Amino acid sequence: MVKDFITPEGIWDSRLIRERFEWKDATAILSLETPSLHHDDHKYWKFHPTGKFTIKSGYAFLSGFTQESQHQLGTLSKLIWKLKILPKWRVFLWKLIHKALATKDNLAHRGMVVNNECDYCGATGESTQHIFRTCSLAKLVWKLSSLTIFLDTNGTISFEEWFQRYILLFHSEDGKDSQRIDIFVAVLWSLWLARNARNYKNEEIHARGILFGVSQELHKCNIFKNNRPGVENIDASLNSQHLVQPPGFLHVQLGKEQSFYPNFVLQVDGSWDKNTRKAGAGWAIFNPTTKETTDGGGSYDLAHTPLQLEAHACLKSILWCKNQGLDEILILTDSANLLSNLEFTTKEPHITILRTLAQIKEAASNFKACVIIKADRQQVRRTHIIANNCRRYGISFSSNIV
Ligand SMILES: [Zn+2]
Repeated sequence: MVKDFITPEGIWDSRLIRERFEWKDATAILSLETPSLHHDDHKYWKFHPTGKFTIKSGYAFLSGFTQESQHQLGTLSKLIWKLKILPKWRVFLWKLIHKALATKDNLAHRGMVVNNECDYCGATGESTQHIFRTCSLAKLVWKLSSLTIFLDTNGTISFEEWFQRYILLFHSEDGKDSQRIDIFVAVLWSLWLARNARNYKNEEIHARGILFGVSQELHKCNIFKNNRPGVENIDASLNSQHLVQPPGFLHVQLGKEQSFYPNFVLQVDGSWDKNTRKAGAGWAIFNPTTKETTDGGGSYDLAHTPLQLEAHACLKSILWCKNQGLDEILILTDSANLLSNLEFTTKEPHITILRTLAQIKEAASNFKACVIIKADRQQVRRTHIIANNCRRYGISFSSNIV
C-alpha cells in the first residue's frame, strides 16, 4: 500500500523507498507530491501526464514504448535519417527500431506463424533480441568483428535499448560519419541477410561468411559515400521538418535494384484548381552538380483530387524517362501522400489512384533503379511553374534529352 511508504508526518519515507525500489524508480517516487492520507488509493494511467487514459498513450504502451522512450525513438529516427549510410540500411534500421522486421516473433504476434524456433540454434522465440544478440551465431560474429560490443546476453535490456545505446555512443564519439556505426550496422544487416538466406533458401551461412558479407557491405557503403556527392546534397538538404516522419515514409525503391540512389534526378510536381478540376503536371531534370534544371515535359489533364494529380504526374514522368532510354532514375516529389500510398502495400491505398499506383509500380519495375523521394517544395519549384503553365494554358509537351 502507498500509505506504508509515508511517515506519520505525512511525508515520503525516503529510507524505506530507497530500500524497496531501484534507484531511478525511488527518485521518481520521491519527486512526487505526497498523497493526502485522507483519500483512498486510486488507479491512474501512468503513461500520460494527466494520469488519464488516452488511446494514443495506450497504444504507445502496448507497442512497448513509454512516452519517454517514444521521444528517444523519435530522436533516434531523425539521427538515423541523417547518417551517411546506404539507403537500404536506413530503411532496415527504421524497421528494426519500430519492431517492423519480419522476425518469427513479430509474425507470431500478428497471428501468422506456427514454428517460432531460430533456424540456426533451435532456440524458441526468434526475436530481434535473439537474432542480433543472444543467438550463438550472433555472439560469435560480434566477437570476431573489429568492434568491442558488450552483449549483455542475460537480456537485461531490450534489443532496442541496446541498439540505441551503441548508435548514440558511436555518434557522440565519432560524429555522423562514424566508421564504427558503419561496421555496427553492416554486421546487423549481414546477420539479417544470413538469417533470411537460412530461412527462405535453406542456405547455411556461418560466421566467416557473414564477416565476408560485412566487408563487402562496407565496401559498397564507402563507394556510396565517396562517389555520389550530388545525391548526398539532395539528401542533406531534405528539410528538417520532414525528418519528423520516419524515413520509411520518405522514399520508395521500385526498380530491380534497391541498393543505391541513381545520379539522374527528375523533379516532378502538379498544379490543380479545385473549382475547375483542371490539372497540370510537370517534370524537369535536375543536375546535382551544377544545380541547373532542364525542362523535361508537362501535360494538361483533369483530376478529382491533388493526390490523383500527383500520381498522374509521377507516372507520366516515369514513362517519359523510359522513352528517353533511361534505366536509373531518382524522382523528387513534394507529395508525402503519394509516397505513403506507394510504400504501404498492405495498407489500403486511396481508391481514386489504385490503377495509377499499379501503373507506376509496373512502369518502375522495368528500371534497374527507380527511387522516389519526398522533397520539399523548394526542390520542385521549377516543375511547379511548368505544371502551372500546363494547367493554365491547357498545354502538353515533351522534350528530348540531348
Ligand atoms: Zn539462434
